[in-house]
Parts: sequence; C-alpha cells; structure tokens
Amino acid sequence: MTTASSRPVAAPEARFRLPKVTSGVLDARQRELTLAHAKSLLSVPTAPYAEDNQLDVVRRFVAERQGFELTVDQYANAVVRWKGGSKPAKRKRGDAPLLAYSAHLDHPGFLYSGKRAGKHHASWHGGVPERYFKGSALRFFDVSTGEELATAVVARTYRNKAKELQVELSHFRGRAKSGMFGMWDLTAGRIRGTKLHARVCDDLMGAAAILATLDMLAAADHPHEVLGVFTRAEETGFIGCQGLLRAETLEKGVAVIGLECSPKRPTAKIGKGPVIRVGDAGMIFEPWITHRLQEAAADLARQHANFRFQRALMDGGRCESSAYNLWGVPAGAMCLALGNYHNCHPDGTIQPEIVDWSDHEGMVALMVRAAELWHGEASSAAVMRRLDLVWKAELPRYSKSSTRMRS
Ligand SMILES: [Zn+2]
Repeated sequence: MTTASSRPVAAPEARFRLPKVTSGVLDARQRELTLAHAKSLLSVPTAPYAEDNQLDVVRRFVAERQGFELTVDQYANAVVRWKGGSKPAKRKRGDAPLLAYSAHLDHPGFLYSGKRAGKHHASWHGGVPERYFKGSALRFFDVSTGEELATAVVARTYRNKAKELQVELSHFRGRAKSGMFGMWDLTAGRIRGTKLHARVCDDLMGAAAILATLDMLAAADHPHEVLGVFTRAEETGFIGCQGLLRAETLEKGVAVIGLECSPKRPTAKIGKGPVIRVGDAGMIFEPWITHRLQEAAADLARQHANFRFQRALMDGGRCESSAYNLWGVPAGAMCLALGNYHNCHPDGTIQPEIVDWSDHEGMVALMVRAAELWHGEASSAAVMRRLDLVWKAELPRYSKSSTRMRS
C-alpha cells in the first residue's frame, strides 16, 4: 500500500518560456534554440560528483548532430569539438590558438550518506554559509536517471571527523537509495519578465551558452575548430578542471574563455548585458583574450543598437579561468551577473538564483561573434596602428618640447 509519506512532496513548478522583450541580438530561431539548451540542462538535477545527467545532455548533443566529436577524459570531463564544417580551415603556424569555451556542470549540493539511528543524513559540497541550512527543504534524485526519489528538511548541521559539513534530515518523504544526491528544493527554472529564477544558474547557464554557441557556429558552417569544455566538481575547488589540466586532456595551443554566473557587482548589474570578466577574486585574466572579447562586443554593438555589455572585475568568487592560467593555458572569461549567488538570499533564506535572460542571449551572441573574429587580425595590432597614428601626429610637438626641456 502507498501512504502519503512514501511519495516526495510535489516539485515546484517550472516554466521555460521566452520573454517577449528582446534585444534583437538573436533571431527568433536562435532564441528558441538557446532556450531549448537552457531547458535541457536546467531540467535535470546536478551536484558535485553527480553530474551524470548533465553529461548525458552533452552526449546527446553530440550524438544528434553532424560535425562534432566528443572526448570524455579519465575524470569524466567532456570536451566537444566542432570540427570545422564542410571546408575546415587548416591551422597554420602563427595562427590564433584553438578557441575553447569552458563551463562547469555542477552546483553546490548534497550527497546522501545513509540512515543511522532512524535518521537520514547527507554530506554537503560547495560554498553556502551554515546559517542557511536549518529548516531548508531538499529534494533527492537518482544519480543515473535523475528521477525524484525523496524530499526532506534539514533538521540540523554538524561536522564529521574531517570537519566537513553534514546534515541530519527530518520530514523525509519518498524512498532512500544509496548513491542518491540532493539539491535545495527550488524550481528547475521559471522565466518571469526577463528574469530567469532557477535552482541552478551557476553554472548550467554557462554550459547552456556553450551548447547554443556550438549549434549556431555549426549552422553557419564555421570553418575553424572550436572546443566546448564541460568540467565537473568546480564547487569543491576546481576539482574537475584540475583533473582536466593534470590529465593534460586539452591539446597544446588552446586558449580558454571560461563562462560563469558570478555575483552581481556595482559595476556589473543584472540586466545590463553580459560581462567581460577581467578577473576574479584572486587573479586577473589573460589581457589579449579580454581585449579580443571587448573588440567582438564593440563589433556586435555596431550591428545591434540594443546590444549592451559590461566589463568588470568580478571579485565575488574565483573561477576556473584562474586554474587554466595557473597551468599555463591562457584564459579569459565572461559571465552573467547573478542574484542570490549559490541560492543565498540576503534575507537568510534559500531561494532560486537569478539571471537576466537578455544578458544570456547577449552572451551567446558575443560568444559566436568572438569565435567568428578569433582568426582575424590580432586586436593588439589594431591598437598598435592607432598608437602609431597618434604618435606620428604628435611627434613634432613632442620632439620640440623634448629639445627645450633637455637643454
Ligand atoms: Zn560557478
């Protein structure tokens, strides 16, 4: 017999529908495609070390399309390669490095650890202040199918011998299965106005932006190779990215642009466009990549009157671009300005993260444009040319004053 308590509490409603408002930077078909990728990644659950369902989305992406190749490394990081379409450009000496877009597939979450003395327990993985836990609702999922198995409430937090945060659960409904994992019980995604509210924006929106970009490059028969890198367990210390770098999964001569959702800043607001991220809380990123992004953004702004972008130091957290740079892989970054970072509302409750959908569309458009311009003249050359011009114009005055001042 099935009793009421043997079923999980009904899941919060999800609604993926495009906002009517658009900056016009993507056409109607591209917007639908961008929404479809966000929906496919956000609708399935994730946690550090439990990104199985996201990896399946990436696998399906490659299986359903022509012209892509998938590598899954020894740590189950995924690299999707666009092979350059019907007339792939040969890579020449002195060419720009191979462009790779990178994002992580996890989000802070729980791993179920079993039942002891009549109580269910789980371990916590990621960065959320401990005061947010008690009384917050969770939902548990099957790691391989993503099926909803149980709901519960955090009764108390405690530390294990290794000082890692653990939770004891109450109000457990549904069934426990070993290997299941948990997330805060929030909507998978709900678009209201131009805002997307979701249990995970960081960083499934980054991953979704990569899939949309690869699809749009494929539709345009983009002649150059481009990689999409999908890492795991970022929230526990760039573990997936470290695995990728330590295993030397990427070939030599790759340059990375990391995609993230990063806490909004006074200089990087939600709804003011995608952010060219010059650095994170610890490091400044590769200047020539940042500059390339800026030139692509300026180019896009010339074509689309309503395209906006921001350029900022996003020092509310660290991101994988730091790890890439430390390992000698040049990396820049872009992000969406994020509200309720890691589901932490300023009022002390757990709530959906928030990004602006138009910012996301702008980021995808910028990623496509950056890929298209990637093999053009190095932007530093254009800057040098401008400096040369002004140098020649000013030189007579400068020389004259130099002679006077030296005498
Ligand atoms: Zn992140």
